[in-house]
Amino acid sequence: MKLMRTTLLLSLLALPGFSNPLLQYTVPLPWDQIKSEHVVPAVQHHLKQAEARRLAFLAQTDSPTWANSIVARDLIAEDLQRTFSLITHLNGVNSSPALRKEFNVAQPLVNRFLSALALDPAIYARVKAYAATPEAIALTGPHQRYLVVTLDDYRRSGVSLSPADRAKVLELRQELSKLQTQYAQNSLDSLNAVELLVADEADLAGLPLPAKQAAAASAKSRGISGYRFTLQAPSYTPVMAYSENAALREKLYRAQTSIASRPPYDNRPLVTRTLELRRQLAKLLGYANFADYQTELRMAKTGQKVKDFLGDLEAKTRPFFEAEKATLLKSAPDRHGWDTAFYTQKLRQEKFQFGSEELRPYFELDRTLTGMFALVKQLYGIRVTELKNVPVWHPLVRAYRIDDESGTALATFYADFFPRESKRSGAWMNQLLVGEKGAPHIGLIVLNATPPNAAGKALLLHREVSTLYHEFGHLLHLALSAGPLRRLNGTSVAWDFVELPSQLMENFTWEKDVLKTFAVHDETGEPLPDALFKKMTDARNFGAGSSQMGQLSRGTLDILLHTDYQPNADYGTPDAYGRQLVQRFSAAKIEPEECPVCNFSHIFAGGYAAGYYSYKWAEVLDADAFTKFKSSGVISREIGDQFRRDVLSQGNSQPAETLFQNFMGRKPDPGALLRRNGLVKKN
Ligand SMILES: [Zn+2]
Repeated sequence: MKLMRTTLLLSLLALPGFSNPLLQYTVPLPWDQIKSEHVVPAVQHHLKQAEARRLAFLAQTDSPTWANSIVARDLIAEDLQRTFSLITHLNGVNSSPALRKEFNVAQPLVNRFLSALALDPAIYARVKAYAATPEAIALTGPHQRYLVVTLDDYRRSGVSLSPADRAKVLELRQELSKLQTQYAQNSLDSLNAVELLVADEADLAGLPLPAKQAAAASAKSRGISGYRFTLQAPSYTPVMAYSENAALREKLYRAQTSIASRPPYDNRPLVTRTLELRRQLAKLLGYANFADYQTELRMAKTGQKVKDFLGDLEAKTRPFFEAEKATLLKSAPDRHGWDTAFYTQKLRQEKFQFGSEELRPYFELDRTLTGMFALVKQLYGIRVTELKNVPVWHPLVRAYRIDDESGTALATFYADFFPRESKRSGAWMNQLLVGEKGAPHIGLIVLNATPPNAAGKALLLHREVSTLYHEFGHLLHLALSAGPLRRLNGTSVAWDFVELPSQLMENFTWEKDVLKTFAVHDETGEPLPDALFKKMTDARNFGAGSSQMGQLSRGTLDILLHTDYQPNADYGTPDAYGRQLVQRFSAAKIEPEECPVCNFSHIFAGGYAAGYYSYKWAEVLDADAFTKFKSSGVISREIGDQFRRDVLSQGNSQPAETLFQNFMGRKPDPGALLRRNGLVKKN
């Protein structure tokens, strides 16, 4: 008996993938069991299954219905996509040479299948046939909307092109996806290749104590004495703002602004090639340029409209920027890039007796989280609780669940707060499983915030608190979406609308009624003093012209690369073009080795190509929408319920313009952003 059982067990283990946790989608997600060697076999398994489903879909002889044409179509690659989203996520937060190798094998396979599926004329024929049935014509609400969205996707995919052109589209998409992966890997490797060691504490004058302690700990963890600095934000940013040592600032600045701009990590040829392929793709699909293709279904509609929007903001911001620049030049006549943050901080300190480090003790991470969860309970009635004993991908990652007032589970989510070398820089939210008809969603938020100090406490800057609120705002967009159709739920909205829920949340971090619920001094227990709150808000718009110009420079570079830019002598190479363009928006001289296009992952390794303007676009929306909360006392359940009903619960079930109008009762007010940032002339 015993022997038999062993034999059975052994034969089960010998089955391919018996122990492969990526073959089945199980909740809670088995993060602790996923190994790099599971990746390729799992992807192959899901590809096979998807192909079988595709053939079964095409073999149908029944007349087309919603279930057998739309639902069945979406099911073809669902398991493949879900599984691959877990793999992609792990490759972004726990990268290793082995995982990267497997990912680089799997990704082109997945991409090829999905691109071909989107271009499959036989599948499209059935969807089109369904769209012409009386059942389809009678659809209403989200179902009707989804059919429109689906047909739009087909039209834009190139499915109606000749077989030769379809093959070309497929080839272009395949190569673009490879370039994107390579770009991200170069950026990460190049960033990690930089470390700056300082032996003598005397060279760290001006640097705040927590930054010094973190640098000492970083050196110690490598078995070196002294202080170690890297290009990760929590290490880099305090040096740029506070270090009196200009040579130290210069070294880090030069390294940061030239990330991935020369061998062995050189993104320049990748950028040139990417832009070329995007131009070809747009042309093949019948668009004047890639920006027109990208923006067609967004609020902006065309590349020209984006250019006009950014140009108008630039013109209105410029007088404030020039005035700030003149003040800055008095302090730093040489105006090098590594002086800007330092002298801006100095000027802010002089004017308001306030520095961003002063707030750190009031923003301990755990208390900040408790405060944020209490806020959303008051706004939306939802409860966030931490889940213990749930597998995570790193010991410092936490898991939570969100329940509605009635106790119904809405979502679970993971939060990964601190930088690691195996993790991409920046902050983001991702959807791992989008539910429908009330089934719970699964999502995650990722930051690269100040890690815990020797006492085990993570003391955040206000900027980091704001980023936390931002990503949690995206998460709420998923958690509270309640539509009947998975593919219209969550954050799959128009790209220039998606930052509304996230940026709206940032507004609350500037409200005294919100801060007083959690901002108490970590050592003394003293609540955030009124005087400090006043200084913080007084200083809020200091340098607003320059920081807005910084964002406009990225938005403008992005849109011009995808509209006007041509690879000829007039424009020069993309990196030279980028340098020359960015100068117009910068108070400092752009150095010859800076490469603004080499470390611009949003547009070359993420989904923001011809979409970086979305941040500013949605800032107009969030500044405007927040006035409604403000006029009802900020923490208002009544307005919260309305925002949830009109925006957060809706996903993409109606056009973005309609959702906004439903909430505000009118169109967006373009002046709201400039007013909030203090960028309007005072009478
Ligand atoms: Zn965002």
